[in-house]
Amino acid sequence: MLNDSETDRPCRSVSPYKAGIKSVCPHCGSAPLFHNILEVHEVCPGCGFDLSAADPGDGAQVFVILVLGGLCAVLGFTLYGFLGLPIWALALALGVFALVGSVWMLRVFKATLIALQFHHDARQGLVDEQKAKL
Ligand SMILES: [Zn+2]
Repeated sequence: MLNDSETDRPCRSVSPYKAGIKSVCPHCGSAPLFHNILEVHEVCPGCGFDLSAADPGDGAQVFVILVLGGLCAVLGFTLYGFLGLPIWALALALGVFALVGSVWMLRVFKATLIALQFHHDARQGLVDEQKAKL
């Protein structure tokens, strides 16, 4: 268990890409980042690192839509064109692929963006007057 002074600053020993692929805490690299399916823990259950500032925004969704949409189109053309699958089987296969793929990719992309955010110490910009007060 890390103490508070160690948990306040981002840890750069964990690769943000490995943490993203595994969907684990960007600080300790072992505890799960999500509870339920896609909700980020407020505090890491393993090391106590404050994850409340994690905000990937809509970035993960945009990546998933672009990448998975392209993959679904290629898979659909392949299944229909080369294998001659009936439309109902094509809709079923693509539906399952899109559903499972989008949940998995959202977890990976969201975890990677959060890990990169902590790795580079990214935060909301401040006006000079606000900086002076801090
Ligand atoms: Zn942790």
